[in-house]
Amino acid sequence: MANVNPLSNPKGVKLQCELCRSPAYIQCTACKVTYYCDVEHQRADWISIHEKICQLLIPIRTPVPFLNSAAERSHSMEQLVQRKKHLIELTTKEAQRLLFDGRHVDVIPAATHSLSFSVDVYGLTSVELVPVYLILAEANIGLGHLTQAEEYLSHAYWTVLKTTDCGNSIRSKLHRNLGLLYSAKGEFEESLRHLSNDIYFASTVSGPSHISTSGGFFHMANIFFRQNKMDIADSLYSEVTDIWRTHLSRLVEVQIQASLRSGPVWFDDAQREYLDENQEAEALQILSAIYDIREQAPKKEPTKMAKILHTLTMLYFLSTDFQKAGEWGKKLLSVTEQLPKDDESENIAVLIENVQRKLKSKQDTYQRDT
Ligand SMILES: [Zn+2]
Ligand SMILES: [Zn+2]
Repeated sequence: MANVNPLSNPKGVKLQCELCRSPAYIQCTACKVTYYCDVEHQRADWISIHEKICQLLIPIRTPVPFLNSAAERSHSMEQLVQRKKHLIELTTKEAQRLLFDGRHVDVIPAATHSLSFSVDVYGLTSVELVPVYLILAEANIGLGHLTQAEEYLSHAYWTVLKTTDCGNSIRSKLHRNLGLLYSAKGEFEESLRHLSNDIYFASTVSGPSHISTSGGFFHMANIFFRQNKMDIADSLYSEVTDIWRTHLSRLVEVQIQASLRSGPVWFDDAQREYLDENQEAEALQILSAIYDIREQAPKKEPTKMAKILHTLTMLYFLSTDFQKAGEWGKKLLSVTEQLPKDDESENIAVLIENVQRKLKSKQDTYQRDT
């Protein structure tokens, strides 16, 4: 962590804390353009995002030298905007990643920076602000700060309402967050209403059986589960599992086919469709939760258990965590041994074989290198 540089903070010079906007008394010694009220706030910012953007802030916060020509000035302005856009992208991505990791406290500084750069570049009423409002809202729901979450969501809501060309995938995410908010408040009917809007909008973009629609079904299932409506909760969990299982099966097949071919010519095929970081994190969150529910069910159902285990094994295989894929694969085999063979048996056998091959080649590399 960067060293602390105490400031005298003389009267008349208003230095503000990066996080809370209170008067600042210390400076980041690495960039010298960022200030904090105390070490706590410096630490929180560093852990969340500052370590990654410290150096990038220097050109943005250093006064532009006097430029003579209009062309030079406009070029320098354009460059500044590009730098800020890059920072928006970086801070948003990081905030999203922290959110999926469940690190709600750490999300806030990164997302707050993203929001202030976005306001700066796009203006206060721009639809570009909505994804950041949603991240901030979700983190605050996670922290139990529901009033704060509601405030961000109402900003998001009004921005979306006023934007005529707002995409449906943003609308879907907005309603998903509203659903989560009302669910946290225990207002289940209102929550279900928003989640069905989420599903509706997501379906118009990718269809009802797409992974981006599955989140809405999953959160709905959680509500029915909490209301003790087990039948409907159960069938929704199965639906969500099937959506992911179908999707991951296709990716695994492409991956395995590609590894059978040799030469870089075919590499493109494997790259064409893959799970991005966010999808992977969402899958892990959803599928692990469903596994826990299946595992803790009073009456174990091996067919449902096999489906969720198969899906999780594929997920770890695709994220190249072969160790974990091996462990889940073992659990999967112990369940499928009790079941009659079906359409999936062959796919499962091929998957397990590939996981073991990957594990073996990793071991060989390890032994060769040590
Ligand atoms: Zn502060
Ligand atoms: Zn710094």
